[in-house]
Amino acid sequence: MSNKKEWEALAKTLLYEPAYPADAKKALTQEANAFCEGYKQFLDRAKTEREAAAEGERMLRAAGYAPFADSVRYNPGDKVYFVNREKSLVAATIGTAPLEAGVHLNIAHIDSPRLDLKPNPLYEKAHFSLLQTHYYGGLRKYQWPTIPLAIHGIFCKADGETVKVCIGEAEDDPVFCITDLLPHLSKEQNDRKLNEGIKGEELNVLIGSTAVDDPDIKESVKLNTLVLLHEKYGLVERDFARAEIEIVPAFRAKDVGLDRSMIGAYGQDDRVDAYPALLAEINEKHPYFTTVCVLTDKEETGSEGVTGMQSSYAFHFLRQLCQSQHADVIRTLQHSKCLSADVTAAYDPSWDSAYEPMNGTYAGRGIAIFKYTGAGGKSMTSDANAELVAYVTQLCDEAGVAWQIGEMGKIDLGGGGTIAKYVARHDIDTLDVGVPVLSMHSPFEVTHKADILMAYKAFCAFNAAQK
Ligand code: MN
Ligand code: MN
Repeated sequence: MSNKKEWEALAKTLLYEPAYPADAKKALTQEANAFCEGYKQFLDRAKTEREAAAEGERMLRAAGYAPFADSVRYNPGDKVYFVNREKSLVAATIGTAPLEAGVHLNIAHIDSPRLDLKPNPLYEKAHFSLLQTHYYGGLRKYQWPTIPLAIHGIFCKADGETVKVCIGEAEDDPVFCITDLLPHLSKEQNDRKLNEGIKGEELNVLIGSTAVDDPDIKESVKLNTLVLLHEKYGLVERDFARAEIEIVPAFRAKDVGLDRSMIGAYGQDDRVDAYPALLAEINEKHPYFTTVCVLTDKEETGSEGVTGMQSSYAFHFLRQLCQSQHADVIRTLQHSKCLSADVTAAYDPSWDSAYEPMNGTYAGRGIAIFKYTGAGGKSMTSDANAELVAYVTQLCDEAGVAWQIGEMGKIDLGGGGTIAKYVARHDIDTLDVGVPVLSMHSPFEVTHKADILMAYKAFCAFNAAQK
């Protein structure tokens, strides 16, 4: 080794230099911007798991997907789907390879942290009408007061009729809110620890302040609220017992930054992966391996429940598909591969002490791969095989997909899990990938458009794999 040029050539070959793909290729920004217009619409139409499942079903039907029937023998290129109890969704395109060669699964979740109503939520105090909530998922309670909120969900009436409710989204709709103390009187609250700054029982939603005409009626403000709900939806107070009502931020998805390079919106964990995964499924017309996209529910509370990934619904689908195609289900599972598509924490320059810079995942550097998640000593993690990381990264490299790999943050600060382990337990090779997010689980999460495009391209490459 004699001269500087040779050392530089060697450095280029041997060292890895992280890069921001949009810096090097300006056309990428345009492509990402165009892709994200549809994504923002999806976010605005799908603020709950039910709405996301319905919007997903609408997109699938428009793309020619037929309801799955376990009695039908399907041909390569056939597209089928089913909706699990209005809250999770499975879509598949039959490949040219036999099922026993394995299927390629992209799984993302469509539930997000939010405030649910309690079963007996409505009360009156100080001439206000309020709703008690019970938070869903790992949210930071202090972030939810003093922002405009919308009410989404369904009521099942005593006679079994289901009524959909959505208030706070239309331009002229009223919105709702949770109040907080003024700084002038917050001396005691200021001494609380941050995670108790607002307590669960203080997350009460303000929904009215007008009384019915008769001053002798007790709880006349609460009664007026019920009169309004009855006029519009035919509801009575007891119907709250048979309801799933979610309180979510009322604002829409917006571009963030003078350069419009980012998106700020509620519920991007994990619709920022669900939308690209669904589009990649729709756009794969003739896969070699059968592709399966699952948009699942209940990830934020541990994937329990009949619509979560610990339920068998997606695996029942695979069994039924195998049966209809006369394929052995065990062989099919053994040879299958899954991308567990969920968000990662984006390195935050204002909170850099929480991150480990060499292993952070950065907004704008492409889709993030997490070989493992979990907490402490990798507890509760699925931990993908190096061979699977090699397989997926090779597909990404061949397709020009920018990818990065890392960990959530500093080892001993916390951690988290994904659905990966609930898939891996079925003998399916599973790897966590996803879009990095700033302010994850907050009412206004921020993502980078280039990463969203890269996630889409990664899912497409995985679906298009020939080996
Ligand atoms: Mn998630
Ligand atoms: Mn989450």
